[in-house]
Amino acid sequence: MSQVQQVKEATDIIQIVGERLKLQRSGSSYKAPCPFHSEKTPSFFVSDQLQRYRCFGCSETGDALDFLQKYDAMSFGEALKYLADKAGIQLEEFQKTPEDDLRERLLAILNLAKEYYHYLLVTHNVGKEAREYLKDRKITKDSINLFNLGYSMSDWDGLVKYLHKKKKYPLEEIEQAGLVIRAKGGRYYDRFRGRVMFPLKDHRGRVVGFSGRLLDNNAKEAKYINTPETMLYHKSKMLFGYKELLNEIRKKEEVIVVEGEFDVVSSAQSHVNNIVAIKGSALTKEQVKLLARVSKKIILCLDADEAGAKATKRAIEVAGDTDIELRVIDLSGLDGGQKDVDELARHEPKLWREIEKQNISVYEFLLRLSLRHHDPEKPEGKREIMKDLGAIFGGIVHAVERDYYVQKLAETLRVKKEVIMQDINRIKDGVVVKKPKKKKKEEEKEEKELAPALTRQQSFERYCVFLIFETNKFQDKLEEFKEINFQTPGLTELVTYFLKSKTKGKVDLKKITYGLAEDLKELVFDIVYAPEFVNLKDQIDSEKEWKNTFSSLKKESARSSIKILQEQIQELDKKSPKTEKEEAKLADLLRKVAQFQRSLRVVRAVDKA
Ligand code: ATP
Ligand code: MN
Repeated sequence: MSQVQQVKEATDIIQIVGERLKLQRSGSSYKAPCPFHSEKTPSFFVSDQLQRYRCFGCSETGDALDFLQKYDAMSFGEALKYLADKAGIQLEEFQKTPEDDLRERLLAILNLAKEYYHYLLVTHNVGKEAREYLKDRKITKDSINLFNLGYSMSDWDGLVKYLHKKKKYPLEEIEQAGLVIRAKGGRYYDRFRGRVMFPLKDHRGRVVGFSGRLLDNNAKEAKYINTPETMLYHKSKMLFGYKELLNEIRKKEEVIVVEGEFDVVSSAQSHVNNIVAIKGSALTKEQVKLLARVSKKIILCLDADEAGAKATKRAIEVAGDTDIELRVIDLSGLDGGQKDVDELARHEPKLWREIEKQNISVYEFLLRLSLRHHDPEKPEGKREIMKDLGAIFGGIVHAVERDYYVQKLAETLRVKKEVIMQDINRIKDGVVVKKPKKKKKEEEKEEKELAPALTRQQSFERYCVFLIFETNKFQDKLEEFKEINFQTPGLTELVTYFLKSKTKGKVDLKKITYGLAEDLKELVFDIVYAPEFVNLKDQIDSEKEWKNTFSSLKKESARSSIKILQEQIQELDKKSPKTEKEEAKLADLLRKVAQFQRSLRVVRAVDKA
């Protein structure tokens, strides 16, 4: 048995997927909302028996290895290694690429750096000042451990000494991990010095970078610095707190998005722990995608200034064609002088818990914001408000929601809704705004091109296979069934394989598909769990249904065979004179047509009887 096979046998896909998605039992399989496309009712199925998953909405399908590659963004090698490690299997011959190797070393370097910084903060003398700093900011020991906070000492080469001199990692690789900088003269020095260190983890919890907060507020350097873009660290994918608080986010199905690391830590301490930070940058598509996997609502709580408003508008665009709901926590009305979530959660945890619940729709927020700057009673004010909101409100995808906010805008400006619509259309024509509708259509077209429509015969074939599994005369039915000239790719191989199993009575899907090639398992999954069939299950008499469908299939198959033969006959007929071989071939084709026509008559006669 190959190693891949060995690892797969030792793996339970239900466990692997179940650790990542909330699975719900559904008949003989499990289901969940698909993590690969946005949807409200689950069409993502995982089968224990086939050890495969399939989404009947977006057609994503595969085994445990595929799932990890797709969901956790692992390479094939990483996924295999991950599953092998889980099962305690030692991989021997697996060929890693040099890039895999480097990535692993960089991860090891970053992980060691995390431990080094953490040690300095928690245990070492040099971390005393940082410990006091965090204590001042009311950061608890639990938080320090949960987020693996650390401290980088102010020396120029603390980390260089540890990772290079002691642990023997080459300086070039430490540099590639973003931890040291090469000076002009060729010497390397620590990037982070004299800072509280926040490990930045990817969605799988691996440390890929750091951000560091200066202890000394008066120092001339930047208050925060971050790892630059590296092979592992990508700012646009970073969500601070995601891995640590993932379960809370998943449970509540909503996530608060704030600016900074301290906002996340303080908030979590005040028991509002479904929260992540985008670290002072704009929300990106990648981040929305990560969040949409585990929650239904994104609740923005960004700075209450111009930049915050801009970031909020940008978020609407980014979340545009997903189903995720955008809401906002508006802190601008607070008069306690708390300037951000960190301070609010730290000084007024109870108030923060209340405010957090009073989040408002993102459109409501933008309306409030605009009204804070412009007077809706004055013509210039009206114009500015329209400029702020017209395109955004007009672009709301759901018609009912769009109508609601357009109406609201009309009331605020005290004009007729039609006037607003006129303005919106004018803006739309003049300015380039996204037209989500058109995009959807294009996507649909693409999907159709990917999955060509089934022929009539293929539909009958699939339903027959489904019914064969439903009834308990598996072998008998297969015997009849195998006579068909199948149009479904792979079906001949599948039926041959099943016939060899000599299954009697009720089918054990797991047993009967054991050792089957993955593409054929995919075909089985596609048919046996197809919602259009499964939903019928309780309403049909399988035996009767089989008789009818199989008879239709035989007719359809005879008809299409005759059609194909007739085309070939026509082609041959054109040739004159014909060779002896061609004459023989023609006779053979005619004989076959007659045969199919006879069988068609027989089927019809049986149907009538
Ligand atoms: P603190 O609470 O530590 O005083 P803050 O609340 O003033 O910080 P901001 O300056 O508002 O924080 O920045 C918010 C977040 O943006 C920070 O937590 C950090 O993640 C990120 N950030 C701030 N300044 C920089 C910078 N110069 N480079 C990169 N990221 C930064
Ligand atoms: Mn702050």
